[in-house]
Amino acid sequence: MSLKPARRAGYLEALGIDVWVPRSNRGLGASARVQVLAPEPAPALELSDGSSIAAAAQSQPVAATGADDWASLQAEVRTCTRCILHRGRTQAVFGSGDLEARWMVVGEAPGAEEDRQGEPFVGNAGQLLNAMLAAIGLPRPSVFVANMVKCRPPENRDPKPAELASCRPYLERQVRLLQPTLILVVGRIAAQALLATDAPVARLRGQLHRVGGLNTPAIVTYHPAYLLRTPADKRKAWEDLKFARRTFDELAATAST
Ligand code: SF4
Repeated sequence: MSLKPARRAGYLEALGIDVWVPRSNRGLGASARVQVLAPEPAPALELSDGSSIAAAAQSQPVAATGADDWASLQAEVRTCTRCILHRGRTQAVFGSGDLEARWMVVGEAPGAEEDRQGEPFVGNAGQLLNAMLAAIGLPRPSVFVANMVKCRPPENRDPKPAELASCRPYLERQVRLLQPTLILVVGRIAAQALLATDAPVARLRGQLHRVGGLNTPAIVTYHPAYLLRTPADKRKAWEDLKFARRTFDELAATAST
């Protein structure tokens, strides 16, 4: 899928950044839509070691584990009480998108509106995320979007380390089921938790990391909510998105040879 130049320019204008022309449109998004998870009411990683993109691509198709499946996982999350965050939720926010997506977006935690709607990244931050994805040729439904923790922290505070640790197995199972070509990690909390580091986003962006048991390639950028508060960094986010697009194309091309 490719965006017409005028439409892409519109998205970029919405982001407040200048126009970029992608060098290739190959491998955009998922080619087949098997199922798009609807939000359900109520209820688990660095190429900074200098490894090559080709090696990352060849490491992707790792065997799935046991008898795990999306329905069982979603049911477990819906009724999960592993951490204290279950007490204040309206519903767990499992994640949504294409279950055959080649791109995965991982954020921090549901906010008030996500808790109410049961879907990640809605509201203004969600709209900006959608525009960011569209700017690199990715309609929101073609990616799978999830958070590090599935239940809303009270007063929108940062998830605590114990809460992140309790919920991480769900994200890891989502990654194992999806086996995305690339994960776009948005924001400090998700990046630090996934990469087990306390480095700021400014030091984590601009490089290819690997995350989880499958060594899934991952790229870090700013959270859309941060970009709404700090529009001056939108240009850096745009550089990250272009880097992610180029990297994805190279990974997909290497995997297909
Ligand atoms: Fe369970 Fe995760 Fe919700 Fe905690 S945040 S109750 S671990 S689903």
